[in-house]
Amino acid sequence: MTEIRSNRIQYIENLFLNHDVTISKTQAEKFYDFYSLLIEKNKSVNLTAITEFEEVVIKHFLDSVSLVRNISMENVKLMLDLGTGGGFPGTPIKMLYPHIDITYVDSVDKKLKFISECCEKLDLGEAKICHARAEDLARDAEYREKYDLCTSRAVADLSVLSEYCIPFLHENGIFAAYKSGDSEDEINGAKPAIKELGGKIIDVDEFEWEGMHRKIVLINKVKKTPAKYPRKAGVPKKNPLGK
Ligand code: SAH
Repeated sequence: MTEIRSNRIQYIENLFLNHDVTISKTQAEKFYDFYSLLIEKNKSVNLTAITEFEEVVIKHFLDSVSLVRNISMENVKLMLDLGTGGGFPGTPIKMLYPHIDITYVDSVDKKLKFISECCEKLDLGEAKICHARAEDLARDAEYREKYDLCTSRAVADLSVLSEYCIPFLHENGIFAAYKSGDSEDEINGAKPAIKELGGKIIDVDEFEWEGMHRKIVLINKVKKTPAKYPRKAGVPKKNPLGK
């Protein structure tokens, strides 16, 4: 093992442990390998704008798993990551919690292929990837009202995102939206939409990790989503609910 590799693996392990995220040496090694795969693939497919090692580890890996602050991952079985792109937050969560069955959804196919490759190379089992738009997939009975947890980072405004994500949850499921620190107005503005879709905000966890100022909005599905949602592809974004 080269010195750079072992230093970097140690960095990942320490960083996660400093934030009370449990990680083994083997998992830290996998995160390092994941970083290498990401940087290699990023030469041909636009997966990430940031490539510097520590920045990727903080802004993609640590950020993705920050959800453990709020959710007992041990109890999650079926999860859907909407607009996963290069696999965030889905893949880092899978690396720490391999028992979770994750469906990765994105409307861009090239990015999804990278997730499949990663899962294979990092020994995470076969990835369930879905090349689809949320609005279409959430109308498919195989996916609708099935999931314990739906995650989404950097995809859309919260009212739009709620229409994409809440339909996938079964009653009592949780939608976790990764939002920036200054998303107060966006969150307040999304409340009517969330209610209409059968959800209820149960917590907004605000924190700063390594200079990243985040809000994770936790929405509980308290009743079924009316059958008319999500509306046709493109409509939620063009005409957000409750606006
Ligand atoms: N979650 C990743 C990627 C964010 S970029 C990260 O945090 O790094 C936003 C992604 O959402 C893009 O890959 C885009 O293709 C996808 N996306 C946007 N609208 C979508 C929709 N309606 N259905 C499915 N994917 C969508």
